[in-house]
Amino acid sequence: MFTRDVLADPVALTRALVDIESVSGNEAEIADRVEEALAATDLKVERFGHTIVARTELDRPQRVVLAGHLDTVPLHDNFPSRTEDGLMWGCGTADMKAGTAIALHLAVTEAAPRHDVTYVFYECEEVDSARNGLRILADRNPHLLTDASFAVLLEPTHGLIEGGCQGTQRVLVRTSGKRAHSARSWLGENAIHKAAPILERLRRYRERIVTIDGCEFHEGLNAVRITGGVAGNVIPDECVVEVNFRFAPDRDEAAAADHVREVFEGFEVEFVDSAPGALPGLDAPAARELLAATGRPPRAKLGWTDVARFAVLGIPGLNYGPGDPNLAHKQDEHVEIDKIVEGAEVMRRWLRADA
Ligand SMILES: [Zn+2]
Repeated sequence: MFTRDVLADPVALTRALVDIESVSGNEAEIADRVEEALAATDLKVERFGHTIVARTELDRPQRVVLAGHLDTVPLHDNFPSRTEDGLMWGCGTADMKAGTAIALHLAVTEAAPRHDVTYVFYECEEVDSARNGLRILADRNPHLLTDASFAVLLEPTHGLIEGGCQGTQRVLVRTSGKRAHSARSWLGENAIHKAAPILERLRRYRERIVTIDGCEFHEGLNAVRITGGVAGNVIPDECVVEVNFRFAPDRDEAAAADHVREVFEGFEVEFVDSAPGALPGLDAPAARELLAATGRPPRAKLGWTDVARFAVLGIPGLNYGPGDPNLAHKQDEHVEIDKIVEGAEVMRRWLRADA
């Protein structure tokens, strides 16, 4: 059980959350503690597996979502936490228990925010999407989310507002040829050589940089793997170039796919994976208020995050959290204690200010 003092202090609460081991799939204990803390408030609390939803019911004209995942990647000699010189070290400090702690701290201490708030603490973000607690909630109980007009995901952004997110697609671009003994190569057709124009198009590709709501989204089209070859004395009959397209959220998945097909015109293209981006939505009034509360300009989220799951439900969203995203999943993961304090203050100022 978290004591009142711990819940009242976002730094102590971060540490308490970090010190409950919660590698994806093992969130029972941390979810129990979070549920217990929320059950002692006036919030309406519901639990689905190890995902917990807590809602204020204040009849405010607007509702916002604050969301954070409870799980971490596997430990790597970085558990439990330790603090030193203003830094808190440990698995999950940056990604994203500091952010989750801020949401839980506000849920417990802000009884009358100016917007209704739906707090979501969810399981299995760090593993495949089929197990993702937010995805499951959005699929099975969308009504718990869709009455919100704006969402904040407290993933690490180092204290900056990061609007929306990029979309991502993976495609296989294939060439085929004909096998032959390499001693008599003219009897075959070399599929690896035929891949040269694919690589050439990638090498010459000029990626777009798109500014949306003041956020600069830099696209990228890159080969990430190449396979082909049969044996040291065989002309290969197949070559596959795996390409990853990271696209700005002004393209939807269909438009992104059309673009990829156009780039590789004349080649066989197979789509293996696709996830939409999310527009920054920084023109939403609640977003503008949060931006004003941070006092810093926004930037684009270069990466894919669960804000896209809100976007699919028609809810604009942004990322804002104290951790440094570049430290996520690293052995030396840590968070600046000042950033936790600042993040909690900004969010509180935002939820309290007079509309
Ligand atoms: Zn995360």
